[in-house]
Amino acid sequence: MPEKIALVGIGKIARDQHIPSIHADKDWELAAVASRNASLDGVDNFSSLDELLEKRPDISTISLAIPPQPRFDYAVKALKARRHVMLEKPPGQSLAECFELEKLAKEMGVTLYASWHSRAADCVPDAKDWLAGKTLKSLRITWKEDVRRWHPGQDWIFEPGGMGVFDPGINALSIMTEILPDPVHVQQATLAFPENRDTPIAAQLMFHHSGGAQVTAEFDWLQEGLQSWDIEVETAQGTMKLAMGGSKMFINDELVKEGADHEYANLYRRMAELVQAEESDVDLLPLVHVSDAFALGRRVTVAPFEF
Ligand code: NAP
Repeated sequence: MPEKIALVGIGKIARDQHIPSIHADKDWELAAVASRNASLDGVDNFSSLDELLEKRPDISTISLAIPPQPRFDYAVKALKARRHVMLEKPPGQSLAECFELEKLAKEMGVTLYASWHSRAADCVPDAKDWLAGKTLKSLRITWKEDVRRWHPGQDWIFEPGGMGVFDPGINALSIMTEILPDPVHVQQATLAFPENRDTPIAAQLMFHHSGGAQVTAEFDWLQEGLQSWDIEVETAQGTMKLAMGGSKMFINDELVKEGADHEYANLYRRMAELVQAEESDVDLLPLVHVSDAFALGRRVTVAPFEF
């Protein structure tokens, strides 16, 4: 019997990825949605999470596809109602929120999954295997995309807690923290804030690496035309590049793997495994690096931004 799941927040990512991925997975039945503005055919529709939790005690799992700012309150309600919870990335607006959710999930005896969709890209496990045991010389993240194309009109992203360019940047950090065997931490950062906004539109990060390798990240949200989601790695034993957000892998400049877009299918597979095993998966390291960049970053003011 498939597990009953409800989706909260019927916005861009819910329509692009969550709904088709849940429908395609035989272990899940999309039983309901909670949305303040939208509705979905073929399932129970509720205008609030409270109503959903009250009227559908048979739904074991709640997936939250809402922005990070309201997510904590929603997650607390679902966990207190003893439902398993899947969080979109980033798992919260702050680390302390996530620690609290982790503790609550444990107390309630339910699963909490802090999902990282980019980490679920096809070539990430291959990159991790390739890097194991090699001597890192450098790792360079280049994540440059067009905010108007991917987040049209989403003002929340420029409001406190929205993270600005770290909303996509944290995807790169979720891959780096998965594939890199060595510890790194942010040493220096420069954050460019549009003069009319509360979160950065560009950022450069420099990390400390235990073996002295040069580890950097460059995030930019004003890239028109070709988009870049690349991680380039140089080791004493050769080079490796993860391109297109982890769906293409090159070794010594030769394309060795080209995957399909399975990220959200993989996330729902993982959630099903976690629920079955009565486990949680809450890795907060990507958010640690973002928090450190905000703590250590030098702030520069740049031109105002309008969608
Ligand atoms: P979105 O379309 O702006 O918002 C998603 C939905 O969340 C909205 O349609 C709304 O749903 C609900 N919502 C918005 N503000 C809310 C509030 N203050 N309180 C309660 N509910 C609220 O955002 P999105 O692009 O789908 O992103 C949502 C999350 O997915 C973010 O954490 C983002 O990082 C992540 N994500 C986005 C993308 C992307 O390409 N956009 C890709 C991967 C991951 P209702 O009207 O149904 O209530």
